[in-house]
Amino acid sequence: MARYTGADCRLCRREGEKLFLKGDRCFSGKCAILKRQYAPGVHGQRRKKPSPYSLQLREKQKTKRIYGLMEKQFNKYYLMADKMRGVTGENMLILLERRLDNVVYRMGIGVSRAQARQIVNHGHITVNGKRVDIPSYLVKPGDEIAVKENKKEKPFFKELKESSIKNSLKWLEFDPKTLTGKIISLPSREDIDMNIQEHMIVELYSK
Ligand code: SF4
Repeated sequence: MARYTGADCRLCRREGEKLFLKGDRCFSGKCAILKRQYAPGVHGQRRKKPSPYSLQLREKQKTKRIYGLMEKQFNKYYLMADKMRGVTGENMLILLERRLDNVVYRMGIGVSRAQARQIVNHGHITVNGKRVDIPSYLVKPGDEIAVKENKKEKPFFKELKESSIKNSLKWLEFDPKTLTGKIISLPSREDIDMNIQEHMIVELYSK
């Protein structure tokens, strides 16, 4: 599956806010958003009043970039959400949150979604005891997510075991000592603590 291979910090600068794509660096003084608060490129410092369309477009681009998706993949979630009952924008965000790479990140196994995706891709994660190496796999309540038994002694996971990471999310739990976690329920909109105005994305796609 195609993926963006350019500089992550450029994406944050383009959206004008921190998207937390690079783990620890995002919380340090090295964050590019703190140093250069304007969009990248030669016209980056030009000021222009944004049109309603450009605001909707930026909201969609921002969300897509947070979850590390390309246009085609992202559009698929909108189409799925549109067919579901309830509020399309909320459904779309909930579907995105249910992706296995996002769940691994939320549990604290990876420092960023990109790292979590790599962990999944490399076959280090099991769902209900079976190896799953598909980052877009959608988890459901009751699913048990764990680091594969024969990978638990790798230095990266050993370090994780010795840490005391805790997530404060109501919809999933993770025990670093055993490197196992569980999906308690589907996330609700309130559980998704990101600055996303999903109704603007729906407005853009429904034009
Ligand atoms: Fe974005 Fe993180 Fe880079 Fe800062 S360090 S610009 S938050 S990816």
